[in-house]
Formats: sequence, structure tokens, C-alpha cells
Amino acid sequence: MEKVLFSNHIAKDLGLYLDNIKYSQLGLIMDSNTQAHCLPLVQEGLPKSFSSFVFPAGESHKNLETCTKIWEWMTEEGFDRKALIINLGGGVTGDMGGFCAATYKRGIRFINLPTTLLSQVDASVGGKLGIDFMGLKNHIGVFTKPDAVLIADTFLQSLPEEELRSGYAEVIKHGLIQDEAYFGLLKFEHWKEQNWRDIIEKSISIKRIVVEKDPKEAGLRKILNFGHSIGHAFESKYLETERHLLHGEAIAIGMIAEAYLSHQKSGLSSRELESIQASLLQVFPKFDFEEEEIPGIIKLCMQDKKNEGNQIYFSLLSSIGKCDFNIPVTEQEIYDAIKYYKNSHL
Ligand code: NAD
Repeated sequence: MEKVLFSNHIAKDLGLYLDNIKYSQLGLIMDSNTQAHCLPLVQEGLPKSFSSFVFPAGESHKNLETCTKIWEWMTEEGFDRKALIINLGGGVTGDMGGFCAATYKRGIRFINLPTTLLSQVDASVGGKLGIDFMGLKNHIGVFTKPDAVLIADTFLQSLPEEELRSGYAEVIKHGLIQDEAYFGLLKFEHWKEQNWRDIIEKSISIKRIVVEKDPKEAGLRKILNFGHSIGHAFESKYLETERHLLHGEAIAIGMIAEAYLSHQKSGLSSRELESIQASLLQVFPKFDFEEEEIPGIIKLCMQDKKNEGNQIYFSLLSSIGKCDFNIPVTEQEIYDAIKYYKNSHL
């Protein structure tokens, strides 16, 4: 398991971390927003000499083209196998910067400083790295762990509200799949008024327990995909359109649709289904789409990496706090679940 360190003084703790390890060169990868908002918070902890790579912010840059530029930068800077990369940013920076580090010269070390709620509670642990390819999310990637993850909730102060909310979808998911009491403690109407530090710690501990038992997603880890089979399809469908959805916004849709499937197929009670739907719709306003768009979304579901052969398997709730995996679902059932979301309301 990767080392996760919580920090109240991120520049100081980063400085201490770097002072205690050896590396030949230091490279900092960030996007245009984290360069503006997060670099000033860590600057004092960085050594005088380091090289940085900045890419334009956004999921649409988590691709092979940006990777090529990162590998060119590493090569031109003469990074050897003892170089160290710091990824300063959200899930896009962590996934792509980590992927480039893990593949450059067959792998150099990297540490992550996640700066969004989503990357702190979800992308920070588990070792999944990768990029989008041919319109498919995280289609190319590897499993490699960072040497360390330094978490500071102070980064969240500059995070736009919709990005904070996007990360909150994963927090809600952690409660739904593993911990009914945690779900019960979460706020929905006044969701912004939370103790984020406590939430981040609790969510990471839930994810770690699951990932430690099944690092390569042979079984149990699949429960972390609750909401993601349909959610990812929505995210991919609208990725490069004006109606594009943030990751958490898409997962929130997926969780409502998959809670419906859970009710149909794995014992989730109607009271719990209603509670999940109402909770999520309080935080994530309804996303409108036409019924004619549903077949295209289902097609994307079928291409999901988690499928085996032509059969689609979902992770579904048997109750709030309990999730089962490898449940076969038909195209018609997915259609009905998406339709359920389409007709849902507060
Ligand atoms: P992101 O990295 O694009 O960050 C979202 C936006 O917030 C960007 O515009 C970014 O520039 C900006 N930003 C980041 N930190 C900021 C800060 N402190 N202040 C102001 N602006 C800031 O995306 P994300 O939402 O963090 O993560 C989504 C990505 O993570 C997706 O690509 C998803 O596939 C991936 N992900 C990976 C895992 C995993 O296990 N590896 C898990 C979940 C999600």
C-alpha cells in the first residue's frame, strides 16, 4: 500500500519528505490551474533546482498527445532512472503524470500531491494510472503505486464548487458500498458544510481496506465500481460535447441508475432506493437527455473494461453499506435503469 501522509503544513512537510530521500533530478507535473493555485502553497518546500511541465487543465488533455509531450520533456531534461516526479493536481494530473513516470525508462519514482477532493478520496490510493484513448475513459494504463501521497485539505480552498461536489460523489459511494453509518452522517442539503479533513480520512480508509484485500481487481475491489458502469458511459458519451459531465456528476447519475438495478436484482429495498435517489438529487441536479440517446450510452457500457466477453457484470447494493459484485445485467435491464434515472425527481 502506498504511504499516505496527511499534512497541515504542506510546504513544510513536502520539504521534509524531499530532504529525507535521494533523487538525481526533480520534475514537477501540474496543470494550468494547479500551477496558479497550488504551486504557491508548496513553493517553499521545493528545492532551488527542479524542472516543471505544465499542461492545459481538463480531462480532454488526459491523452496520448500530452503523454508524448511529458516523455519528450523528461528525455530533454535528461531524467535518469533515479529521477523523481511530483504530480501536483487532481486525478487527471495524478493518473497521467503517474502513467508517464511508471512507463518512462520502465518506471521512475513519483509522489502525488492530490489537489481536488476527488483525487484525495479516490485517485490517491489504489495504484490505477492511465489516460483516455479513442474516446474511452482510462482505456490505456497500468497499476503502479506512488512512493507517497501527501494530502492537504488546504488545497480545496481554491477548488471551484462544482469540482468539490464532483469529488463528493465518490465519498457518497464509499458510504453506500461499505458503511451505512458513514452514509447516515453525510450531509446532502447543506453538503458544502462538512469537516472535509474527517471525510477525506474516512473515505481513504474505506478505499484502502477494499484495495488491500484485492489490489488487482480480481474480486472485491469491483465494489468500488458501483455507479461507474453506467456513470462512465455517461461521462464518455458527453466527454467532448457542450453538455460534458464532471466525473462525479456522471457517477451520481450512475449511482441512481445502479441503485435501481440493485433494487431489481440484489435486494436493495424500495425505501433505500428512494433514500439514495433523494440524497443524490439534492446534491446533483438532474441531467436531462433524450430517450433516443440511451442506446448510445448502453453501447459505451458494453465497452467498459470491467466486462468479460459479451457479458456485462455490475456491482450492486444488497442494502446501504453492502455491495455485491459480478452480477450479470442485460442490455434491457440497463435500458430500464437509465430510463428510471430519466424519470427520477426530488
Ligand atoms: P482534474 O484533475 O481535471 O481536476 C479538476 C479541475 O480542478 C481541473 O480544472 C483542475 O485544473 C482544477 N483544480 C485541481 N485542483 C485545484 C485546486 N486546488 N484549486 C483550483 N483548481 C483546481 O480532475 P479530478 O476531478 O481531480 O479527477 C478526475 C480524473 O481522475 C478522471 O480522469 C478520473 O478518471 C480520474 N480518477 C482516477 C482514479 C484512480 O483510481 N486512479 C479514481 C477516480 C478518478
